[in-house]
Amino acid sequence: MENTKFDVVIMGSGMGGLCCGYILSKEGFKVCILEKNRQLGGSLQIFSRDKVIFDTGIHYLGGLAEGENLYGYFKYFGLMDKLKLKQMDMDGFDHITFKGDPTVYKHAQGYDNFIRVLSEQFPEEKENIQRYCAKIREICDFFPLYRIEDDDKDLVSANFLSIDTKTYIESITSNVKLQNVLAGTNPLYAGEADKTPLYVHALVVNSYIESSWKCVDGGGQIATHLAASIKKMGGIIQNYSEAVKFNFEGSNIKEVVLKNGKKIEGKYFISNFDLTKTLDMIEPGHIRQAYRTRITNLRNSISAFILYIVLEKDTQENFNYNIYHYHSNNVWESIKAGSENWPHSFVIFPQASSKEGKYTDSMIVMAYMNYDEVKQWETTKNIIPNNEEDRGPGYEEFKKKKAERLIDAVDARLPGLKKKIKSYYTSTPLTYRDYIGSRDGTLYGVEKDYRDPLKTFIPPKTKIPNLYLTGQNVNLHGVLGVTVSAVVTCSEILGQPKGLIRKIKKFLEENK
Ligand SMILES: Cc1cc2nc3c(=O)[nH]c(=O)nc-3n(C[C@H](O)[C@H](O)[C@H](O)COP(=O)(O)OP(=O)(O)OC[C@H]3O[C@@H](n4cnc5c(N)ncnc54)[C@H](O)[C@@H]3O)c2cc1C
Repeated sequence: MENTKFDVVIMGSGMGGLCCGYILSKEGFKVCILEKNRQLGGSLQIFSRDKVIFDTGIHYLGGLAEGENLYGYFKYFGLMDKLKLKQMDMDGFDHITFKGDPTVYKHAQGYDNFIRVLSEQFPEEKENIQRYCAKIREICDFFPLYRIEDDDKDLVSANFLSIDTKTYIESITSNVKLQNVLAGTNPLYAGEADKTPLYVHALVVNSYIESSWKCVDGGGQIATHLAASIKKMGGIIQNYSEAVKFNFEGSNIKEVVLKNGKKIEGKYFISNFDLTKTLDMIEPGHIRQAYRTRITNLRNSISAFILYIVLEKDTQENFNYNIYHYHSNNVWESIKAGSENWPHSFVIFPQASSKEGKYTDSMIVMAYMNYDEVKQWETTKNIIPNNEEDRGPGYEEFKKKKAERLIDAVDARLPGLKKKIKSYYTSTPLTYRDYIGSRDGTLYGVEKDYRDPLKTFIPPKTKIPNLYLTGQNVNLHGVLGVTVSAVVTCSEILGQPKGLIRKIKKFLEENK
């Protein structure tokens, strides 16, 4: 890297870091993105086994039909005509099922369709389902950037901020099965009873109800295209560049020091990774201990154990919907369920492949897992290709046992699947910790809590004047959530709260 002084230095090339890089490059800033891994993209990363491509953190995307929110942002990022996408089943992109109940409950795309399909399964509940949908959309309207709008909303006084998802859903209907079906995609936001704010549920489910899509051959293409555009605009992207420390000049950061000793100077710095780890890069004296303690005490959302299954050729017919399966009639129990009852629930994500015909070659199965389950191996580190440390036979045995339990559970849901498995691979909370650089392999970063919404709503500005945050800890997780986070972060740096969103709106109007 010849030029070591930049307008903006972004640490981490997750979706949030790349979106910031794109926006600020387009705004004329000289941008440098530093990524610790070989592969860019954070949770957009893919990997390949037995000639099958697996996603690591993008199983489906919402809001990508023309005129919808992610479509608008992706169009602004020059992605829409480049991405290979496949729309999921209109009448049931998510199937919710419960052990002992043969009915498959379906979430359909499009609000009218969603109401129609669920009302066929719950004929007495049509009005309640309509009320639920109206509320979800009303809440989303309170978040202008989510709608690519620039109007002001009085969010602080909004009454839904102090309601949790479970309580709200229970207030909509007394039908317990419907309550669980409405909350059935809970793993999309690691929902907890008496904690997860209703707005988190609303912002996440709304985009999928509007429209649901799979990335064909994986979500890595999003990172590839964004990185290429950033470079084309003059930005520098450097992999194998782990940020470890900040050097200061007065109260501002002067440069970031990399693990290899290199120093990169900048005017602004944006961290796209774990908040605590970002603060660890600041020596004592530059921020108040109270701020450090407040951030360090925030809880992260749970992690997961994930199975990546390669199937024998021509054995499993393709299906174009995800399956959320629960072992009890209470979807809120699974995040708390101990290891004896594991897996209390799981999600089966089929993958979209450009090679697919009638049959599929793979699927991914995800089940919640607490970091504590793998804590005994936390001193090991394993990232291909530079940190390939063996975590030892005990860890391999642990993974095997968990995989076999999960495969048995999946086989009970999809009878005969076990015999179709050619090979499988697994990841644990430690895998995510090492690849993404979080403390604990968290799925979605800082856990939001309706009891203290503002405390868990992280602003992009920090106590250091030229240090900003972006990514899933700011605003909301998910591809859409972090895209909006990037707009929030860049708007702060650009110093015009509404200037950027107006430019994006104008761009979309001119490029209809
Ligand atoms: C298993 C799983 C499934 C998911 N499924 C979906 C889904 O289906 N749909 C959806 O929309 N969202 C999904 N998500 C959420 C979504 O993937 C994330 O919210 C989003 O990608 C996070 O983006 P981010 O910008 O916060 O960066 P991250 O993806 O968290 O990336 C952070 C980056 O920073 C780098 N980094 C860390 N430390 C350093 C350092 N010191 N120096 C330099 N670089 C560093 C990391 O290597 C990484 O590249 C899923 C997440 C997970 C984990």
